[in-house]
Amino acid sequence: MYSNEANAAPRSDDRDEIVVVGASAAGLYTAATLARGGRKVRVLESKPDFEPASRTLIVTDHFRNQLGASANASILNEIRRFELFTDGRSAQIALSKPDLIIERARLIPALAREARHAGTKLCFDRRFLKLSPNSRGLHLEVESGGRREELHAARVVGADGATSRVARTAGWPPIETVPLMQAIIRLPKDCPPDTTRVWFVPDDTPYFYWLIPENSERAALGVIGEDGRDTARCMTRFLEKKGMEPLEWQGARIPVYRRWVPVKRHVGNGEVYLVGDAAAQVKVTTVGGIVTGFRGALGVAEAILHRGRSRELTALRRELDTHWLIRRTMHHFQQKDYSQLVDLLNFSTRDTLSVINRDESTRLLWNVLRRQPRLVLLGLRGLLLGKSVRPVAN
Ligand SMILES: Cc1cc2nc3c(=O)[nH]c(=O)nc-3n(C[C@H](O)[C@H](O)[C@H](O)COP(=O)(O)OP(=O)(O)OC[C@H]3O[C@@H](n4cnc5c(N)ncnc54)[C@H](O)[C@@H]3O)c2cc1C
Repeated sequence: MYSNEANAAPRSDDRDEIVVVGASAAGLYTAATLARGGRKVRVLESKPDFEPASRTLIVTDHFRNQLGASANASILNEIRRFELFTDGRSAQIALSKPDLIIERARLIPALAREARHAGTKLCFDRRFLKLSPNSRGLHLEVESGGRREELHAARVVGADGATSRVARTAGWPPIETVPLMQAIIRLPKDCPPDTTRVWFVPDDTPYFYWLIPENSERAALGVIGEDGRDTARCMTRFLEKKGMEPLEWQGARIPVYRRWVPVKRHVGNGEVYLVGDAAAQVKVTTVGGIVTGFRGALGVAEAILHRGRSRELTALRRELDTHWLIRRTMHHFQQKDYSQLVDLLNFSTRDTLSVINRDESTRLLWNVLRRQPRLVLLGLRGLLLGKSVRPVAN
């Protein structure tokens, strides 16, 4: 497959191979789905070996439907309640189906096992550099151990994250990102291990702070911001105010979904696709990208396997657009708006929030508004205030 000779002719089977760039959540899920569909798949990962960075993540129970039994390997804890805080007020929402706390360092090896089992070939220490068209498909340049290698494929899937090189070399415009920071802390005594806490502090961030317990001992306290330095300053202040001590830090920049990123481009006779963070398939309300990244991966795999459109991609687009509408509404909320929001979460609204999860946002939104029409006014106010949403730093 690999060759150091420029323009080496592809062997016939090389042309049918699908190359996935990036062995993380979205890439491995795509690879396994394609391999199960009978395709020859190779995954290229720039890291030299398989030690994914530790990250505590919260996902809806949709995650179990997506992964089946293999989901269990990465689940640390179950969340049955949300507590929302703002300006001395609070509201509680019980979840009928628990959210799951998962550990990325366990999830990725579980996905890799699935992908290998389905017949995918995983190649580490392979940094994708660029792609260009050749007479039969795509010509890829890859770096491995300081040497340049070449390979050929008919299709390439970019699953290489928010700063995707596949996207850049295939001509997609860059996507915006925001900083996300998490500190691992000891779980405060007054916080039950099955409860996630969310604080709206509009002076610090248009997003929010959260606390997600891993177990009865540890939790992750996180924040999303707009500017890296400001976010770090606010996080330090918040930790001090709450008397919490960071034991470890986790963080990265996360894509901001503003509009649907078309997932496919033709480059000469070849096809290039994007999945996961590379295509900004992230819920912009919560900046959660695991479940939506899997959905994007499934959609792209469906499109490749069935030579065309994918229902999953259509549904995902609707879902991500709804999250963008909610974010635009809330982006310019001031303290009084958050106070009103928390007050308006009356019993009927809370029922809806507890039974419909955040991965069904369109249904969730209409049900909440039907039960609490005053939220429409609050939403309209937010939308009007946020007519020109400030661009966020890259
Ligand atoms: C601290 C933190 C907390 C988060 N919390 C949550 C949460 O609670 N819930 C949730 O749903 N989401 C959360 N997210 C977001 C979620 O982690 C991401 O959306 C998701 O991991 C994206 O997966 P991905 O496979 O698309 O990309 P990535 O995980 O970024 O993977 C990209 C892969 O591509 C490889 N790569 C990059 N460039 C190249 C190259 N040139 N050649 C070869 N390989 C390359 C990388 O090494 C990496 O393995 C969080 C993110 C962070 C940083």
